[in-house]
Amino acid sequence: MWSERGNSRGQVVIISGPSGCGKTTICQELVKDPRVRKSISVTTRPRRPQEKEGRDYYFVTEEEFERKRKEGKFAEYARYSGHLYGTLLEPLERALEQDMVYLLEIDVQGARQIMERFPQALSIFILPPEEGVLKRRLLGRGTDLGKGLATRVEIAKEELSHASRYRYRVVNDRLERAVEEIRIILGLDQKEHR
Ligand code: ADP
Ligand code: 5GP
Repeated sequence: MWSERGNSRGQVVIISGPSGCGKTTICQELVKDPRVRKSISVTTRPRRPQEKEGRDYYFVTEEEFERKRKEGKFAEYARYSGHLYGTLLEPLERALEQDMVYLLEIDVQGARQIMERFPQALSIFILPPEEGVLKRRLLGRGTDLGKGLATRVEIAKEELSHASRYRYRVVNDRLERAVEEIRIILGLDQKEHR
């Protein structure tokens, strides 16, 4: 299944979609399956109150991020809404060696880099049932206010135009339905382990 590193059978899965579409919530459901692991990104964005260092992100300064970048630690990285985000290469390679389904919840810029570097990566774009839902869900989440919210809504519109570049598009109308659709795409619907 996996080609870049030869004989490993793991699967890299890109999950993208506009802010507020439900990527994080969907990934939280998917990782309940022991065959699935989610990449923990490095970011310079400030930590949100409910977020935990090392669980949701590794929170670093711009200097630390730049040092890691120069050391070649990232499989991809991008700037989103003023902050840097990057996927660490080493845990990705380890997950593939362990035959895991490895989820990368990343933006469209990062997705493009991963698609080039790992052509076997499977890509899924999460869509809201309709555009107005995004702002409502972001408001409901309560983590982005004022300018931050407006910026995310603007970026979301641009991001939606990239949906056709992904192999699969999944509408997050009802969470359980969307998760089930992705589990089928990933071949996780069969009960027995690979
Ligand atoms: P993202 O990671 O794409 O920015 P989140 O997973 O943080 O989005 O979801 C944004 C908000 O929408 C959260 O408050 C989440 O609980 C809610 N949400 C996610 N999926 C659904 C859904 N299918 N129906 C209703 N609300 C949802
Ligand atoms: P948030 O600040 O809401 O957690 O994430 C903002 C955006 O950055 C989302 O689209 C999220 O998927 C993306 N993101 C998170 N981690 C990474 C990463 O490591 N690389 C890239 N390119 N984007 C990321």
